[in-house]
Amino acid sequence: LLQLYGPLNFLGSVYSAIRTAMVDLEHMFGLMEEDIEVADPANPFPIEAHLQGHQAAEVAFEDVRFGYSPEREILHGVSFTARPGMKVAIVGSTGAGKSTISRLLFRFYDTWSGTVLVDGHDVRSYRQADLRAAIGVVPQDTVLFNDTIGYNIAYGRLGATPAEVEQAARLAQIHDFIASLPDGYDTQVGERGLKLSGGEKQRVAIARTILKDPRVLVLDEATSALDTHTEQEIQAALKTVSAQRTTLVIAHRLSTIVDADEILVMGQGRVLERGTHEALLADGGAYAGMWAAQSAETITPAPAGEKADVQ
Ligand code: ATP
Repeated sequence: LLQLYGPLNFLGSVYSAIRTAMVDLEHMFGLMEEDIEVADPANPFPIEAHLQGHQAAEVAFEDVRFGYSPEREILHGVSFTARPGMKVAIVGSTGAGKSTISRLLFRFYDTWSGTVLVDGHDVRSYRQADLRAAIGVVPQDTVLFNDTIGYNIAYGRLGATPAEVEQAARLAQIHDFIASLPDGYDTQVGERGLKLSGGEKQRVAIARTILKDPRVLVLDEATSALDTHTEQEIQAALKTVSAQRTTLVIAHRLSTIVDADEILVMGQGRVLERGTHEALLADGGAYAGMWAAQSAETITPAPAGEKADVQ
């Protein structure tokens, strides 16, 4: 019996980590209360989940229609393609359907019609767990577990070594902060431990995602503005994690997506405009209006001879 104790204990902690991970994902997407009915196929198609040694994935939506309840269609035929390694940004007013797109990509729901494809295959042809392993999310608001900061990062990939955790933390620009704490990676965080700021929590999420090493990345940008220095550090860390990976950014601050390969401007469940930042500005449509409005909000009077700071 004693010999069994070690493996059983290990299985117990793996089980609890997986359960926590599911709770985190559900919490992230606000799905706790919902009864979700999507089924795995009888003969699932294999999918390569990780980037190392594999190409970034292609993500495509083809004329997708969807609603949460039968009487209200939310997406009215959305199409776009993010070719491998591309960064596609989704912007638009609140309630336009941006987060719904990421939920369909994870297959938390099935479309009414049209297809969501990853690597050219319908997401319904994959096992859900395999699909979700291939996609990493940096959510708006990261849930921390009442555990050490090291564990909170390591849970991006169960079984990661302390050296791998530290490397991920360095890439996410959070290592120096952790190293400055008296207990370092063993510092307790969460409700019963050290409270982390929004920017620190987001960097923990980025480090987790670096460890997970997914082929597709979804960045759900925080609505609340961070101070300029923190914002710059976060953006630098996100650049590291999104390099080479197909990235979908749900953006609130247009300044963070000027380099996107394609920007989709959503309004009431439709893609109203699409193109690069420069092309959309030149078109002078809804995007150009949003850009002018955000610039006006953040322009601070500059000392004579200097350019105003537009964020
Ligand atoms: P925001 O910028 O405010 O996050 P969004 O563009 O991401 O908005 P979605 O979350 O995709 O918008 O929501 C699109 C529409 O779908 C909204 O009208 C919303 O009320 C509705 N909706 C979202 N989630 C659900 C749900 N779980 N059940 C029913 N309706 C929902």
